[in-house]
Amino acid sequence: MIGELNANATKEQRYCWGFDLGGTKIEGAILDPAHPDKALHRLRVPTESSEGYDHILDQFSKLIVQLEQASGIKRPELVGVGTPGVIVPSTGLLRNSNTLCLNGHSLTQDLAVTLGCDVIVANDANCCALAEATLGAAKGCHTVFGIILGTGVGGGITIDGKILSGAHGICGEWGHNPIPGEITPCYCGRSGCVETVISGPALEHFYREQSGSEFLTHLRLPAIAELAGKGDPAARATLERLREKFAMALGAVINILDPDAIVIGGGVGNLDLLYQEETRAAILRHLFNDQFTTPILRPALGDSAGVFGAAMLTKK
Ligand SMILES: [Zn+2]
Repeated sequence: MIGELNANATKEQRYCWGFDLGGTKIEGAILDPAHPDKALHRLRVPTESSEGYDHILDQFSKLIVQLEQASGIKRPELVGVGTPGVIVPSTGLLRNSNTLCLNGHSLTQDLAVTLGCDVIVANDANCCALAEATLGAAKGCHTVFGIILGTGVGGGITIDGKILSGAHGICGEWGHNPIPGEITPCYCGRSGCVETVISGPALEHFYREQSGSEFLTHLRLPAIAELAGKGDPAARATLERLREKFAMALGAVINILDPDAIVIGGGVGNLDLLYQEETRAAILRHLFNDQFTTPILRPALGDSAGVFGAAMLTKK
């Protein structure tokens, strides 16, 4: 009997459990570290953040029970959780989350009580970077800058398969670096942030201004890229703006970090333009170097990166 219990305990701790806390859904996955590129089980529940903080904790509770039932595996001693925002190291409180009701709470402690196990919480962009650096496109690379380029602009840095969080938890937040000459106000209180220039919504706004089509509010970036291919001048100007400003913003990061690989996640990251030789040449113009050989990679894990990275937080 004792032998059987021990065998079970060993089995349960073999697996990495991760949760990705998004604005609309909470996703949970169980990975086997021996085959971590594919989840053993993966389930989701709605976040229903309008119901408040305690409701989100209840949803977590529900999800972990569902995962236990679906897998036949008991919850482990430690789970990983990815979320927008950061846990401030000095206070243990979450801040900067766009799921506003989470801010100001001890999410790590409250989840530990709710789930009855230890919890590691990390920023969601950091989790994506961790997943791509350990399981995905940049697997095995020493230093990786994982970019999120979509509705918002963020990022994460990993070194030897571990997240670099920083003294204040803001490592990798290049989305709020200033771009010289840009003055658009940002929600963060400053102006000209990278996010106000090359996020999807910022580029779509630029296109509407350039085209004089203020009413084309439905036109998204993929459609604008298609128009650029057909020679639409405003669409071409929008993509050229993306190339130049992306190069300037990324060049500043490369001069500090000089990573071994860069991975671009997020909707804007799907655009071919970002991987073209012309974009690499534009980046080189901002480097303190006469060559730019760093691979810029498309993500390998797609929308699995967040939850896989959260699970990988628990890997010793
Ligand atoms: Zn900002």
